[in-house]
Amino acid sequence: NTFSALGLSEPLCRALADSGYVTPTPIQTQAIPKVLTGRDLLGLAQTGTGKTAAFALPLLDLLAANPKRPTARSMRALILAPTRELVVQIAESIGKYSQHTRTRHTTIFGGVGQGPQVKAMSQGMDIVVATPGRLLDLVEQRLVRLDSIEFLILDEADRMFDMGFIRDVRRIVKLAPKEGRQSLLFSATMPKEIEHLAMEVLRDPDRVAV
Ligand code: AMP
Repeated sequence: NTFSALGLSEPLCRALADSGYVTPTPIQTQAIPKVLTGRDLLGLAQTGTGKTAAFALPLLDLLAANPKRPTARSMRALILAPTRELVVQIAESIGKYSQHTRTRHTTIFGGVGQGPQVKAMSQGMDIVVATPGRLLDLVEQRLVRLDSIEFLILDEADRMFDMGFIRDVRRIVKLAPKEGRQSLLFSATMPKEIEHLAMEVLRDPDRVAV
C-alpha cells in the first residue's frame, strides 16, 4: 500500500516522501488508479480525507505523460473551488507535489487586484486553481480563455452550490471543450442539484466514496 504501487511516477513519490507522506489515505487508494485510466470520476468525500492529493497527484502525472505547451491565456487543467482559502490551500499542495516536475500552476480569486493574475496567465498555464466568479470575470474581459482545457476538476461542489456559484460553474463548464476532456467532481454531500450538475459535467463516471 504505497503511492508507487498506485501507479504514480518517481518524481511525485519522491515529493510525497519529502512531505512525510508514507501511506495513501482510502480516497487516494481508491481514486488515484481510476483517475490515471483517464475516466471521469465522481468522488463523495469530506475535506480532511486527503482528497486534494487524490485528484492532484494523478492530474500531475497525466499532464506529464503528454507534455504540451499551454495556449496563451489558457490552461491545460482547471480546478474550481468555492473560496479563496481553499484555492490557496490546493495550490500549496500542488506546489509541494510538483516540486520535482516542470508543471506550472497559478491561482485566480477575487478580492485582490487582477493584474498579477492576468500577467501569470499571459503565456498560459498547466494548472489553474480558481474561484468561479473572478475566473468568469477575466474570461469575459478576454484575458483568460477556457478553450484548451483538458482536465476539469470541481472541488467541494456542494459548497459552491450553497454559496450561489452554480450558475457561474455551469457557464465555465459550457465554455470548456467537451471532447477529449477528463472531468472530476468532488462533493461532501450529494443532494439532487449536485447529482444533476455531475450528470452535466461528467461522462460515464467511475465513483468513489469514503
Ligand atoms: P485534504 O483532505 O486534501 O484537505 O488533506 C488533509 C490533510 O492531510 C492535508 O494537510 C494533507 O497535506 C494531508 N495528507 C493528505 N494525504 C496524506 C497522506 N497520504 N499522508 C499524510 N498526510 C496526508
